[in-house]
Amino acid sequence: MEFIDTHTHLSDEAFENGGDDMVRKAIEAGVVMMILPGTSLDEMGAMKSLAARFPENLRMFVGLHPTELTDNPDGAIAVVRRELESCIRYVGVGEIGIDLHEDAAGREKQMRAFDAQCRLALEFGLPINIHCRDGLDETLEVLAGLPETPRGAFHCFGGTADDVERIRRVGDFYFGINGIVTFKNSGLRETLPAIGLERIVLETDAPYLAPTPYRGKRNDSSFIPLIAAQVAQTLGKSVEDVAVVTTASARNLYSLA
Ligand SMILES: [Zn+2]
Repeated sequence: MEFIDTHTHLSDEAFENGGDDMVRKAIEAGVVMMILPGTSLDEMGAMKSLAARFPENLRMFVGLHPTELTDNPDGAIAVVRRELESCIRYVGVGEIGIDLHEDAAGREKQMRAFDAQCRLALEFGLPINIHCRDGLDETLEVLAGLPETPRGAFHCFGGTADDVERIRRVGDFYFGINGIVTFKNSGLRETLPAIGLERIVLETDAPYLAPTPYRGKRNDSSFIPLIAAQVAQTLGKSVEDVAVVTTASARNLYSLA
């Protein structure tokens, strides 16, 4: 079985050796490809060097996380543009979006930066990877105002069936499902049938949100099969089906070779 982790921060300081050990551990667990999301300009160097050490298995998004924006993010957004124009191949723009849980006062700034980065994605023909926490109204407002229909994924999706419907109305979206789905009493399991297996992509968001039985510990990409097993159980499918369908969706959405 082959899996893809569509959102994992393996170059994070939480991992020793620049993340190399965790990449090897994940490959052994059947996670053949992992996508490293952009968060801030500061993290870009570590991410690029990790990706360069595993060219077969690692891909990258470029983008500015909504809680990593400076007071005037225009300069940083210009750097994102230069990265997209460079010879480095990014498979999407992310993680971008709205986070009013961490920074409610930054609402206007976040919406402007999200809009600008969505437009970059459209210009370069790339999907977007969205971080949305306590800001679905604002996220949908930006997406609905774009000049073309956006496509991409809502990373760390934890919403309701109603949220799924609202998101579908503004674009062509997949839903990133991570360890939250394994948590006891997770309401997310009730939402999975509304999403449907064909629209699910798997992710860990490592080092955060480790699935049960590692909840509260450091997460890493080798735990993807645990998330797949829960998705399979909830939807009444085999783990093989979940692996095949979600891997194909990830390859298709992010044009992964
Ligand atoms: Zn993330």
